[in-house]
Amino acid sequence: MEEHTEKSKKIGGAPGRSIDIYAAQCEKCLKWRKIDSQEVYEEIRSTIQEDPFVCEKKQGKSCRDAGDLEYDSTRTWVIDKPGLPKTPRGFKRSLVLRKDFSKMDAYYITPTGKKLRTRNEIAAFIDANPDYKHAPLGDFNFTVPKVMEDTVPCGITERTPKRSKGLAMID
Ligand SMILES: [Zn+2]
Repeated sequence: MEEHTEKSKKIGGAPGRSIDIYAAQCEKCLKWRKIDSQEVYEEIRSTIQEDPFVCEKKQGKSCRDAGDLEYDSTRTWVIDKPGLPKTPRGFKRSLVLRKDFSKMDAYYITPTGKKLRTRNEIAAFIDANPDYKHAPLGDFNFTVPKVMEDTVPCGITERTPKRSKGLAMID
């Protein structure tokens, strides 16, 4: 009981955490490679089904090099769905982890700084701002990554899910 209280205190007060490290898993050696930016990450994610990620895609790396990060509970991992479209140019896609670690929420930020949380809001924004007609509605996707319960802080949940392989983002 006491321990639980202490853990809650650490997370409590934070407005919800977002992704700060991106990673992809090599199809051949299964090591995790750190991906430098959201843009590069989204590019990998959008084509990973046809073009699997391997260490060599990261400059200067090969399967002989040690992994950049380990999948463990020192961080909370969230595993993304492969094949999601890249965020249309000018927009930013944000993911926020709920305080109870139950799930993530996705939203888009428009080039004008507006936060859009649903497909209808996006459609209305593009309708009202024909400058952004280049952004196909189908490229906005609210599918959120799965929070890996075996990596959330103790005391929040006890269930241990199956390990997924593929793309991950880490909070
Ligand atoms: Zn490799």
